[in-house]
Amino acid sequence: MLKVEGLNAGYGSVNILWDIGFTLDDGEIVAILGSNGAGKTTMVRAITGMLKPSSGSVLFNGEELARKNSRTILHTGIVQVPEGRQLFTDMTVLENLQMGAFNKETKAHFQANLKKAYEWFPKLEERAKQAAGTLSGGEQQMVAVARALIGEPRLLILDEPSLGLAPNIVDDILKVASTLAREDNISVLLVEQDITKALAAADRGYVVENGRMVLEGTSEELQANEHVKKAYLGI
Ligand code: ATP
Repeated sequence: MLKVEGLNAGYGSVNILWDIGFTLDDGEIVAILGSNGAGKTTMVRAITGMLKPSSGSVLFNGEELARKNSRTILHTGIVQVPEGRQLFTDMTVLENLQMGAFNKETKAHFQANLKKAYEWFPKLEERAKQAAGTLSGGEQQMVAVARALIGEPRLLILDEPSLGLAPNIVDDILKVASTLAREDNISVLLVEQDITKALAAADRGYVVENGRMVLEGTSEELQANEHVKKAYLGI
């Protein structure tokens, strides 16, 4: 469903991504792994239209999205939970969730999807009328994930969901992602520095180093890979 090929992108005259390529099927969870500064967020930006790639292709269900604007891409069903969450901190949790319904369809389904979101993250119902900025980091991440899901994604991109969060909260968030992939056939692109957690949740993964894809495999293959073990797992 998603096929990225030969993607090159950067900032000004500085190229950051070099010939990035990967695939993602319906209902699959694919991890993009790499350390701080490897280029993961730049890759997400290039896929979601926040940054125009200088060359390459982003095919989503047969439609070419490279160099389309972010609004057009959002309307194809690619919804991201950005790194750092980017909530409207002065607005309530409920108001933030309402922002996730961005078109006629998702506005019509809002109440039903809100009910689902509260089932995934019961804390959010308790906090519905509270300003999002007063929530803990973990709760804010739940709001960001719930807001994305209210947009009824066909492809959900999670950019560094574990950043600064307690391990049990990360597990809760990844559990929701796994359930969505399995039960609703939503594809999940999981961009992560926490390789142990990402490989535990993902079906397959790709390793990015210095803006290049250097390894790919099933989660089991990557967990057993000597380079991954040494460079990322400390074993
Ligand atoms: P992190 O986990 O820190 O987000 P990352 O793998 O997502 O790491 P990127 O944020 O994509 O990495 O950064 C890749 C490179 O691009 C880094 O060298 C970074 O300094 C550079 N970079 C990121 N954003 C910009 C920008 N707006 N302008 C110029 N250079 C940037």
